[in-house]
Amino acid sequence: MSKLKAHKTICSYCGVGCGILVNQDSNKKISVEGDPDYPVNKGMLCSKGMNLNYVAQETSDRILYPEMRWSKNHPMQRVSWDDAFTRAASVFKSIIDKHGSDSVGFYVSGQCLTEEYYLVNKLTKGFLGTNNIDTNSRLCMSSAVVGYKKSLGDDMVPISYEDIELADTFFIAGANPAWCHPILFRRLEKHKQENPNVKIVVVDPRKTQTSSIADLHLQINPGTDVVLYNAIARRLFEKNRIDKQFVQKNTIGIEELKELVYKTSYRDAAKICGVDASDIKKAANYIGRANAFINMWTMGLNQSVIGVDKNVSLINLSLITGHIGKPGSGPFSLTGQPNAMGGREVGGMANLLAAHKNLLNEQDRNEVANFWGSKPISPKPGLTATEMFDALDNGKLKAIWIICTNPVVSLPDAKKVERALEKANFVVVQDISHNSETTKYADLLLPAAGWIEKEGTMTNSERRISYLPKVIDAPGEALPDAEILWKFAQKMNFQGFEYENTSEVYDEHCALTKGTNMDISGLSHKRLIEEGSFQWPVPHETHPGTPRLFEDKIFQTSDQKAHINTPVNILNKSEKTSKELPLILTTGRIRDQWHTRTKTGKVNRLTTHIPSPLLEMNVIDAMERNIKEGDIVEIKNKRGTVKVKVKLNFDIKEGVVFLPMHWGKIRGNDFGRANNLTNNLIDPVSKEPDYKYSAVQVSKH
Ligand code: SF4
Repeated sequence: MSKLKAHKTICSYCGVGCGILVNQDSNKKISVEGDPDYPVNKGMLCSKGMNLNYVAQETSDRILYPEMRWSKNHPMQRVSWDDAFTRAASVFKSIIDKHGSDSVGFYVSGQCLTEEYYLVNKLTKGFLGTNNIDTNSRLCMSSAVVGYKKSLGDDMVPISYEDIELADTFFIAGANPAWCHPILFRRLEKHKQENPNVKIVVVDPRKTQTSSIADLHLQINPGTDVVLYNAIARRLFEKNRIDKQFVQKNTIGIEELKELVYKTSYRDAAKICGVDASDIKKAANYIGRANAFINMWTMGLNQSVIGVDKNVSLINLSLITGHIGKPGSGPFSLTGQPNAMGGREVGGMANLLAAHKNLLNEQDRNEVANFWGSKPISPKPGLTATEMFDALDNGKLKAIWIICTNPVVSLPDAKKVERALEKANFVVVQDISHNSETTKYADLLLPAAGWIEKEGTMTNSERRISYLPKVIDAPGEALPDAEILWKFAQKMNFQGFEYENTSEVYDEHCALTKGTNMDISGLSHKRLIEEGSFQWPVPHETHPGTPRLFEDKIFQTSDQKAHINTPVNILNKSEKTSKELPLILTTGRIRDQWHTRTKTGKVNRLTTHIPSPLLEMNVIDAMERNIKEGDIVEIKNKRGTVKVKVKLNFDIKEGVVFLPMHWGKIRGNDFGRANNLTNNLIDPVSKEPDYKYSAVQVSKH
């Protein structure tokens, strides 16, 4: 069949944000290929991206029409959209009247498009009168957000992907981009192949495909990152590898850091981290000699009870060596989700305000409220992701509206999340698929349009804003999330939601950014469609976008200097292992699955790589427990149990076990769900959960 015109869009999975060409033949069959002209991926796609056509076309799992139940004892029944909006509006109004605005909340997703994120924030913060709007980006990047703000003054990723090809030294900590950000990893791998002098240091308790290309793998004990980065800083001080001119002119805090790092000997640091002191020095020597140095990180740092301390300690290495604001240099957080950054731009978290304005600043709140024509915005930060479910559990939160995320599988301590949803007075779930376990808890289920069934924008890890067009119709009665939100707002009789399409929402968002650090007032919807993607800021109509930040060495702090922060916690604060629970469980992604498998789980060719959840365990730990390769094992702690097959190797550090995060209920039981075991601790500032460190015991089943 002949192909019709290809539509340019963006992959809906990870924060790399690859360009995709969607082709549709005359029989409406969809195929996808990498966009050769898109600067991010230059035609490449990973296994997940290249199979998106199957996800788009397989609709047997889709939610096709609104469903509702009158009480928890009634069955769900099909209703019209108008009845669904009437019910949602009447329940939200009556709960707010009775219990106040803070008794309702929205829990959304880093997969939402920017316009959807913008609307749900406007609706909640401006009109419902509560800041209880948080997102699963809280589980992903919130420690990095705080780290950037403390160090650079705002949530701003300083560099571009094109800096990868300009760097000669990389320090990759708590990340496995070979599996989780594959196209970026391919760029890095190619760069090293073509430039053998490029040095790569990987920090990870596991040997991974990423560590296989490293010149040095520091296989540290989980949770000891701050000690390691401080020891590296000490070596840089000792070897006089500090960029004194940059530090003196453009930073504050160096003396406090120096004093701190000299308190720990290399010997002690090596013992705490479980690596050789000579390797710590070697890593520092690579960094100290670098002409252009990038440190990359993701969940291994962020998902920690001391996630902020890990972030600032790592960013310190870039600051003391002056590797920021110049080609091939800078700190570079690898975003997990496709639009986590777009969400942050519109204030998509309980403690943020639109356009990077400050929720705690009265003038900023008034500016936003005036712009929206809304009531005053509350100065009180709202409930964050895990706090929201705690509040449902203890009865303070009565109603929750969940959009495009599956907290029953993805939040820590999953049994508590189930209990919380059972206790909630009213649960709205807005999603595309019945594959989400969370839909079972809905009192009102709303069918949403999916990827290529709606239009909008996203921002990837390098601040690149791209347009995603609507290519095909959504099945059944599914509506774009933005339309669902503005129709609900209209039903609530809120003024300012009379939109005809999402381009109006986008242009409103752009106007609100004028004069801010992330000014995109020069990037109208029309320009975005006509000229393609841009990296923010784009402050006027002929501005070309900004690939690299801080080239002028002016930072967004009040004194315009970068802040070298002394970490509050040097040692980990996770729950302790014990005689009964002697192993550290860490969780994470595998190559071909995404989040809770609601999409990737229905593509056969993506299930062949690792078809079912496996516990990765060191052979020595297995021998002590008489466990053999392929045995079914029981992983246990006081929060729950998981029963899966075991995979033995020497790649994972002794005393540590790894379980993929993707699986929920399999054939009705939850024995593959990693979050049965994860703990309730969160970083006290970023409120990001401590997914990477839970105490467990493992035994043969
Ligand atoms: Fe999609 Fe990420 Fe793969 Fe690119 S690297 S194709 S954005 S999943």
